[in-house]
Amino acid sequence: MGRALIIGAGGVASVTAHKCCQNSDVFSEIMIASRTKSRCDALADKLAKMGSKTKVSTAQVDADNTDEVIALIEAFKPDVVINLALPYQDLTIMDACLATKTNYLDTANYEPKETAKFEYSWQWAYQERFKEAGITAILGCGFDPGVTGVFSAHAMKHHFDEIHYIDILDANGGDHGYPFATNFNPEINIREITSKGKYWEKGQWIETEPLEIKRVYDFKEIGQKDMYLLYHEELESLAKNINGIKRIRFFMTFGEKYLTHLRVLEGVGMTSIEPINFKGQDIIPLQFLQAILPDPASLGPRTVGKTNIGCIFQGIKDGKPKTYYLYNICDHQECYREVGSQAISYTTGVPAMIGAMLLMDGRWGGAGVFNVEEQNPDPFMEALNVWGLPWKEDFNPVLVD
Ligand code: NDP
Repeated sequence: MGRALIIGAGGVASVTAHKCCQNSDVFSEIMIASRTKSRCDALADKLAKMGSKTKVSTAQVDADNTDEVIALIEAFKPDVVINLALPYQDLTIMDACLATKTNYLDTANYEPKETAKFEYSWQWAYQERFKEAGITAILGCGFDPGVTGVFSAHAMKHHFDEIHYIDILDANGGDHGYPFATNFNPEINIREITSKGKYWEKGQWIETEPLEIKRVYDFKEIGQKDMYLLYHEELESLAKNINGIKRIRFFMTFGEKYLTHLRVLEGVGMTSIEPINFKGQDIIPLQFLQAILPDPASLGPRTVGKTNIGCIFQGIKDGKPKTYYLYNICDHQECYREVGSQAISYTTGVPAMIGAMLLMDGRWGGAGVFNVEEQNPDPFMEALNVWGLPWKEDFNPVLVD
């Protein structure tokens, strides 16, 4: 039994809060704190209708301000802080956890607001301080990053002596009916997709132009999709943590309609993060675009179809070459019926609850800063099957060239 402080009240936080309330034996109390308190209260009202034993409270916090987060932690005394705000807040929240000796978990690595660049260096730099404080930070505990790292640890522990190649494939076969919308925070999503691609091969990073490398893949239960090579944060930690890895890539599917809109928006400067002066006020075009795009949390009722996210591993077992595909299929409408959210928020919010649960009951832990693949994958893999993200295996998958 324990207490979790959830920071953020968007699409992902909503799912994690629902899942904590379904798991009231572990989460006796949660607090939802975010910049806009009315969103926390609206979520708490929804949760109250579930009739869960978990006690839910709400608070206003500006997580860019470490002192505000410290004050909140000191008042609520959580066992873990689940950071489901934006990547910009990771360091201030980690600072607050250090100051109060509280465990920390997030789903996305730190990114400075002024540069569209994410890497683990900023958060890995907290390693010694978390060690000295005797507390745990779990980084990137959503689906990708998150489950993809747990899948990799599971493959390493149970299926391979050496893993040489990993391809992470993220397919969304969902349709929300809008000409253009993003499935999670639009600003973060568009920054990621319009950045250069990058993958790890033979001991070095190879950079590509944005969306330069395209492949077509026939996904189980979704069908054939165009997918594009992106840089994604788990590539950095897996390249470091999976010994002997020769190549690791990440592909995400995008439809032609989505890409056409994105090209036009980029072409006219709407995805820029450089401030412009508009009628005497400095605005950032991408933030303005976010304000007019649909809120990802509102896509739930209208999104139909499935996601298929997983990893194809190639390596050696008992001296013989082996291939193994581990993936999850998630249905947007089933997620909506269960927790009122679409599958992208669901596939991120469920692993965040599972990671927090394992931290609270001591099955995950250790003093320091960890990526998920550095923890024991077994209880997490079991929990995925229990909490709504069952996984499937294929020992003879089609490979990506
Ligand atoms: P949303 O935009 O829906 O929600 C973000 C929430 O954070 C909002 O409630 C927002 O408040 C709050 N917030 C923003 N700034 C602050 C601040 N300074 N202080 C307090 N609260 C703040 O995002 P999502 O729920 O879609 O995404 C949440 C996180 O999950 C992101 O970091 C995203 O990158 C990550 N993610 C990870 C994935 C994975 O698989 N690992 C996949 C998808 C997302 P307000 O309501 O005021 O705007």
